[in-house]
Amino acid sequence: MTTTDTPGGTGQARSYASVFDSPVAGTWSAPGRVNLIGEHTDYNDGFVLPFAIDKRTVVTVGRRDDRLLRVASTFDEGVHEISLDELDPSAMSGWSAYVFGIAWALSVAPQHADAPAFTAAGGDVSSIDLSAASGLDVFVESDVPIGAGLSSSAALECSVAVAVTELWSLEVNRPTLAAVGQLAENDAVGAPTGIMDQSASLLGRADSAVFLDCRSLEADVVDLGFAAAGLEILVVDTHVEHAHATGGYVDRRASCERGAEALGVTSLRDLDVDDLPRASDLLDDETYRRVRHVVTENQRVLDTVRTLRTEGPAAIGALLDASHVSMRDDFEISVPQLDLAVATAQRSGAVGARMTGGGFGGSAIALVPSDQRDAVAEAVTAAFAEAGYTAPTIFTVHPAEGARRES
Ligand code: ADP
Ligand code: MG
Repeated sequence: MTTTDTPGGTGQARSYASVFDSPVAGTWSAPGRVNLIGEHTDYNDGFVLPFAIDKRTVVTVGRRDDRLLRVASTFDEGVHEISLDELDPSAMSGWSAYVFGIAWALSVAPQHADAPAFTAAGGDVSSIDLSAASGLDVFVESDVPIGAGLSSSAALECSVAVAVTELWSLEVNRPTLAAVGQLAENDAVGAPTGIMDQSASLLGRADSAVFLDCRSLEADVVDLGFAAAGLEILVVDTHVEHAHATGGYVDRRASCERGAEALGVTSLRDLDVDDLPRASDLLDDETYRRVRHVVTENQRVLDTVRTLRTEGPAAIGALLDASHVSMRDDFEISVPQLDLAVATAQRSGAVGARMTGGGFGGSAIALVPSDQRDAVAEAVTAAFAEAGYTAPTIFTVHPAEGARRES
């Protein structure tokens, strides 16, 4: 992988045409996501309920007549490149690893065909062959906030994934593409994340959430009906960076694995709330609380899906609130800013609120009546000012369509 400075500079003026010469073959986009409920359940083979949001990463892509993959973004200067003949995680670093990692993951997918993710996704990856694929120029633009817990990383991976599979004429279904994205993020970037973000970004539908069983990878679309109920989702980006996120995440995963092993199950998905008394007898206090979060969170996802289908979104507030308490007290992944955002939203008119994403910073969400959105936002802003915290960025997101070709 090499990086060069190029004419074109940075900022607003930088565009595909200012960096690359090859003719544009098309543009593709993929959204970020908000996880409505189901946190740290994905890598425990459990349930999640994210939705794709109306903030997207757009890639403009041109075909090259050699084997180079070259990428540039409004996010930094320079152009990063790698040869399709030298794809290997050890040759990738920085943000371009998300892009090159997709090509690498596709190239090794045939050998990984027995990996649970690929077979569970129902995909046939045996025909993937990049040996004659053309090089590409890829220019990235995005309005997904980076590092805010809204998965700018999956938006990047998935926009690239839908672009390259179309340009390279690869027949890969969307669930399999989600597994490709996860493999890229795990092995090329080195982030041990689950498959939720990519699934939301690829399978999202307008006004709907993606109910994903992370074991079977079966996905169901669930109507959210926010607009009809006069509700919307407010995101509070605390600007607290996930400084300890990687260590904390690895730590939580290890606790979950320890708990599952001690209880004699493949993963915590295999437990339900009736198993908790036995877990409490067997496990140390901290491991027990980690297990209790995952087990009760799985149940809350199932309850949320059922409630959405029977009573509608106005009835899910208590489940969102309970999810936050569980993350704060049992899984211990919240921070004071997230707790303040959640408590203030709850006090000032939200139907329910919780932190969202991996934790240790990032964003909280609040389900609010549209006519109280401004009051909730003002109350949270005022509470942050009073506590002496950095002012949050607060905005509404709407459930939107997943990855697609734009032009
Ligand atoms: P999140 O997914 O919550 O936004 P992550 O840390 O998982 O946070 O991913 C953020 C990283 O993804 C960035 O640091 C960068 O490496 C990469 N990334 C995301 N969007 C872009 C973009 N538009 N251009 C270049 N890199 C990006
Ligand atoms: Mg991410």
